[in-house]
Amino acid sequence: MRLAVFQHQQKPTLGIVREPGILPVPNVSLREVLENSLALDLLKGMAGEALPLHQVELFAPLPLPYRPILCVGLNYAEHVHEFSRPGRKLPEAPVFFTKAPGAVNGPYSGIPFDPAASTQLDWEVELGVIIGRRGKNIREEDAFQHVFGYTIVNDVSARDLQARHQQFFKGKSLDGTCPVGPWIVTADEIPDPQNLTLHCRVNGVVKQDGNSRDMIFRIPRLIAELSRGMTLEPGDVISTGTPSGVGFSRTPPEFLKPGDVVECEIEGIGTIRNTVG
Ligand code: MG
Repeated sequence: MRLAVFQHQQKPTLGIVREPGILPVPNVSLREVLENSLALDLLKGMAGEALPLHQVELFAPLPLPYRPILCVGLNYAEHVHEFSRPGRKLPEAPVFFTKAPGAVNGPYSGIPFDPAASTQLDWEVELGVIIGRRGKNIREEDAFQHVFGYTIVNDVSARDLQARHQQFFKGKSLDGTCPVGPWIVTADEIPDPQNLTLHCRVNGVVKQDGNSRDMIFRIPRLIAELSRGMTLEPGDVISTGTPSGVGFSRTPPEFLKPGDVVECEIEGIGTIRNTVG
């Protein structure tokens, strides 16, 4: 099942995506579905009048209010090599950081461009893991019991701010620099999340072409490490890192500019599409 959040009767509303339509679920929140598998079963059999999907405004498919996006850096070997000095070793433990809640943006919304803040916005297509069941100290072998589904994240990154402040947070947290969506695909429809192609295109040109099989730390390890001593909540997103092909490590470096259209596509999920500026 595909679950989205969209503007309906003047408020964010849960919807079941059945292309080309979306079925509104007015009296149930996404949080309730994430926390209660019975609610999910009820939705599966739900009937009603669908609205044309292309006519509605989709939001990030996350419960409100947003929490920080939990991110993994340097989780694909080729990206480690393009990101770092030659000879840099691969990380021995996952590199975690967060994107501020204010960065969360809709799957087709504009990415703000403010040259006073940054002139070096870069793209990063990533598989987003949506946590369902709350958990702490989750064992690797139990990790998938806590996964509700999957989505697409574009971890748009201000490279000038990353360099200036020597820490990921600020450069990863500008308003609107975390498009998420277009929906959550429930875990039962993604039998092998470690074998999905990921693509990022800018103005139709392929910039990233990766596969989630190439993650250095796979999803169970990420969940186990992140949840050690730290509770994961329903609706938390773990953005699992980006493959190679980002802009700033190209020769010459490439950055997003106003008018650019960035598309992030993941096999079995869909495509998010955002225009800069
Ligand atoms: Mg990233």
